[in-house]
Amino acid sequence: MNFLEQKILKDGVIKQGNVLKIDNFLNHQIDINIIRQIASELKRRFHDVEVNKILTIEASGIAIATMLGHLYDVPVVFAKKGQTANSTDDKYMSQAYSFTHKRMNNVFVSKPYLQPTDKVLIVDDFLADGQAALALIDIVHQAGAKVMGIGVAVEKGQQKGGRILRNDGFHVESIAIIEEMNYEEQSIRFLEQ
Ligand code: 5GP
Repeated sequence: MNFLEQKILKDGVIKQGNVLKIDNFLNHQIDINIIRQIASELKRRFHDVEVNKILTIEASGIAIATMLGHLYDVPVVFAKKGQTANSTDDKYMSQAYSFTHKRMNNVFVSKPYLQPTDKVLIVDDFLADGQAALALIDIVHQAGAKVMGIGVAVEKGQQKGGRILRNDGFHVESIAIIEEMNYEEQSIRFLEQ
């Protein structure tokens, strides 16, 4: 078992509706040591990939993305979320259904922060149905930039996101992949990688 799987088993709390809370090291309080290890492991897995920008989505992706940006020494951009559709003249905009909040969000990035020359590594805390990642991919493509890969801390393998992205040909790396999660027993089984 790797460091993240061990940490999830120790501190993760399974909520009803297939939601895993890891508030004490990523989603509320941030454990810098774990974030550093997540970022280093993602950089190692994408070692053969050229990256000049990290893109994530607010809020919980920002910690991992910042640490990764530090390791690559490249800028980190976080897409913002909002429910109202403002003018799209100055921003790239897409939409993502939020698995945790059960609502549709507009996701946007101001145009100056993504350039056609950018080689973008997309990063997030969780990959579930792939809605957030697909919105970020859409935004990168609107900018004429290139998606070099998608790196997440936790992939919920029972949900369809990882399958969709890999079938679309994207290089996806997940440090922990949950195969099964049981609310009553508070048990988690990880996919061996
Ligand atoms: P997706 O867009 O892939 O369906 O879901 C990923 C997004 O929803 C992530 O940005 C993450 O913040 C949130 N998310 C999805 N599932 C979980 C979960 O089980 N726990 C937490 N904490 N966030 C989740």
